[in-house]
Amino acid sequence: MKIYTIGGYEEIGKNMTAVEIDNDIFIFDMGIKLDRVMIHEDTNLQDIPPKKLRKLGVIPDDSILSNKNIRAIILSHGHLDHIGAVPKMAHNYKCPIIGTKYTIGLVSSLIKEEPFSKCSNQLIAVNKKVEIGDCEIEFINSTHSIPETKFVALHSKEGTVLYTGDFKLDMHPTIGEKPDFKRLRKLNPKVMITDSTKAPEETKTPSEKVAVTMLQDFLLDENDEKKGIVTTTFASHIARIKTLLETADKMERIPILLGRSLCKYYGIALKLGIVNNGAKMVKRRNSIDKKFKDINKEKEKYLVITTGSQGEKEAVLSRIANKETPLLLNKKDTVLFSTSTIPHPINIANRYKLEAKLKMQKVRIIKDVHVSGHASKEDLREFLRIVKPENIVPTHGEYTMLASWAELGEEEGYTIEKDIFIRRNGQEVVIE
Ligand SMILES: [Zn+2]
Repeated sequence: MKIYTIGGYEEIGKNMTAVEIDNDIFIFDMGIKLDRVMIHEDTNLQDIPPKKLRKLGVIPDDSILSNKNIRAIILSHGHLDHIGAVPKMAHNYKCPIIGTKYTIGLVSSLIKEEPFSKCSNQLIAVNKKVEIGDCEIEFINSTHSIPETKFVALHSKEGTVLYTGDFKLDMHPTIGEKPDFKRLRKLNPKVMITDSTKAPEETKTPSEKVAVTMLQDFLLDENDEKKGIVTTTFASHIARIKTLLETADKMERIPILLGRSLCKYYGIALKLGIVNNGAKMVKRRNSIDKKFKDINKEKEKYLVITTGSQGEKEAVLSRIANKETPLLLNKKDTVLFSTSTIPHPINIANRYKLEAKLKMQKVRIIKDVHVSGHASKEDLREFLRIVKPENIVPTHGEYTMLASWAELGEEEGYTIEKDIFIRRNGQEVVIE
């Protein structure tokens, strides 16, 4: 069994791993690294051909797989750092793309938007299991920060590969079920390829239920008089949006979702029945501005939910801060960030600008009303003791994050280069 560590082994972004069993290749995830686009001013991802994207390091360099027999592209969940490169690369492989309904829904919308290549791969939406040749692909329930995230087990005659994707161990998820510990205990994987993002953090990641309490503590506090409230979160964080909608109900305010990506992610979740909390959704700039005219007259009647939590320039929140919309905020109004700032210099700079502009308008800012979607060190330890893999390959992180996973492995009795392997992009691990 051979594992190709293609992308996500020296960064957060462009995740892609391939497993070779008997000359058959199974690809896990195919993501993009957006900050490589963001560092260039005036660059739009859709305007750059795939070849150039690969050169810029926006999409994984998959040249290690040329002339190989690719059997399937398996997607663990719908975040762009896991599926964003599908419309740019998948057409090069004559194989199906497999994921849950929600993930496949998001992928097919990306494929429709792709101007350069026509991806005609078969899309297979799977809830539990699918057979590809001699192998079986099993989706096991997991928890993260986007619906229908799965642990993926690839069962082959050479043993089971467990690809964890991004995960946390949430015992109180607000959408979907808890992780399937019962199944995980029985897997006995030969190798586990696993999320490292929060491996350096010596704690346990709180449940999404904690985020509900944090949000409602502030929003439902009757001693605290509020006028306009603008909230923002990650567009794909459907559980958080659901909480905001439910809280708006309790506040007797009208919730309203503004911005293209929010409407897209939430719209697909609604269509698939993942959520049933309806809300007014406004996508286009002109319609949003028209709506803001109404909201500006009676701010206390609405709970605004917008895009732009990272200070993205074109997002609705940045336009509000720039006074480019009819919604004018002042010291009686609040902007609440139900996210963390993704710790990249570009995001940090964008967020700084956004907050400074809001502060100049004397707007009250509430930050970090958020819990992470990634397992911290003590969750990973718990997970390791449950799964007991024979070998470990940490992925999804910068070198220090992968190394933290390796240290944890050592604490639990594994040995670097014997049964826990750190690799860079474009390298291999051979499992005997
Ligand atoms: Zn993710």
